[in-house]
Amino acid sequence: MSINVLIIDDSLSYCQLLARYFAELDVDQVDYCHNGVQALKKLQEQRDLYQILVVDLHMPEMDGIEFLARLARQGFRGGVIIASGMESRIIDAASQVVINARLRLLGALMKPVCRTQLQICIERLLMMAPELNASRSSMSLQALRHSIMHRKVVPYYQPQIEVKTGKIEGFEVLCRLQQGEQLQLMTPDTFIELAEKNNLLNAVSEQLLGTALREWGNIASHPDCDGARMSINLSPRQLGQSYWPTRLLDFCQEMDIDMQRLTVEITENQALDKQSQHSSISRLRLHRFGVAIDDFGTGYTNLASLCRLPISELKLDISLVRGIHFDPLAQTILKSLLDIGRHLGVSVVAEGVEDPKDFTFLENMPDLIVQGYLVCRPKPFGELMRWLNARSKVCRDNRVVQLNAAGKPQ
Ligand code: C2E
Ligand code: CA
Ligand code: CA
Repeated sequence: MSINVLIIDDSLSYCQLLARYFAELDVDQVDYCHNGVQALKKLQEQRDLYQILVVDLHMPEMDGIEFLARLARQGFRGGVIIASGMESRIIDAASQVVINARLRLLGALMKPVCRTQLQICIERLLMMAPELNASRSSMSLQALRHSIMHRKVVPYYQPQIEVKTGKIEGFEVLCRLQQGEQLQLMTPDTFIELAEKNNLLNAVSEQLLGTALREWGNIASHPDCDGARMSINLSPRQLGQSYWPTRLLDFCQEMDIDMQRLTVEITENQALDKQSQHSSISRLRLHRFGVAIDDFGTGYTNLASLCRLPISELKLDISLVRGIHFDPLAQTILKSLLDIGRHLGVSVVAEGVEDPKDFTFLENMPDLIVQGYLVCRPKPFGELMRWLNARSKVCRDNRVVQLNAAGKPQ
């Protein structure tokens, strides 16, 4: 699918500069409008033509903030980049307007904008809307059935740590399928949708959780995992089935697992508005399971409606964490999440931390939990145990070095 961009900015030379950058980034079509009124008219006439809008804030006739509010009412489904020369507090305020409306935010950039920033915004759109990314290939239904029948569903684990102290707070269980004789490892983007469409996702989850909860005993009893939790993923459709809260209770009883140490993650990319989904969330919380809203920032649910759900955790999506050290919009969203988290007793996790500069920025955020390749890639059980042991040893050795240094006369 093609990516078309509409730039709304009263400066012609700036429109031309951005159009040149976008052309270098292989965008298919770039158009511009010099005020919001024109742009809204164009968007009404050609509803689905544009996947990205770049919006200036200071414009004649209608300012950017009013434009964004109207855009949300018009039901625009693409991504929005704010690019403005105004001071950062005004960009922050505009970002808040967008956060509270149902719009997909790709970035809030201070002029002059550079090409790399636009590239990151395009990458965010592709992560948020995988249907635009034509290169994805999927498993065949036959191969999927074969892997399930031969019990080839394997849990991988990715640690989550408290950013300030390095304490292990938990592990997310990520599903992998082994395919064919070579046991080729398949990631969820190649089979989750297919499994869901063919009513096979529950069979995948059953196998995955059966193994993960059995292995959990060993992981949880590692000395560095005191109080750590395990997070599992359910699709919004699975959440709507009354089967799952009951099944998870059975699993916990069978395997003697404290419900408080298990969190269910639900993606936010489809609005959680069905009564059955709300009732599952309430039932899970009633039984003291944790409930996390996953991929926050990619969907259409606003913060106010999320806060009405009795959730215990919010996960900021990878697309907003990448490049957070130079992105005021992502920083504003994270700070709002942490504020809300503090008020409601909800923990906040930043996903997809890969870049040391992003990690350094996040290190200043109190009470934040991080997860990402920089800390540890998802690993199968055996490798995870080796990682935990190696990490303990490094920490112990560091402590000995520190104690020795402290004991030495100055
Ligand atoms: P998710 O729940 O948002 O999981 C995080 C994804 O980000 C994982 O991809 C993980 O491997 C990847 N990741 C972690 N750190 C980094 C990083 O620093 N950089 C980058 N680029 N990626 C990172 P994975 O394992 O491919 O899973 C993709 C999605 O599939 C998951 O996204 C989740 O929505 C879904 N999924 C995974 N397991 C299950 C499952 O058992 N059931 C259901 N319903 N969905 C699942
Ligand atoms: Ca997840
Ligand atoms: Ca996620």
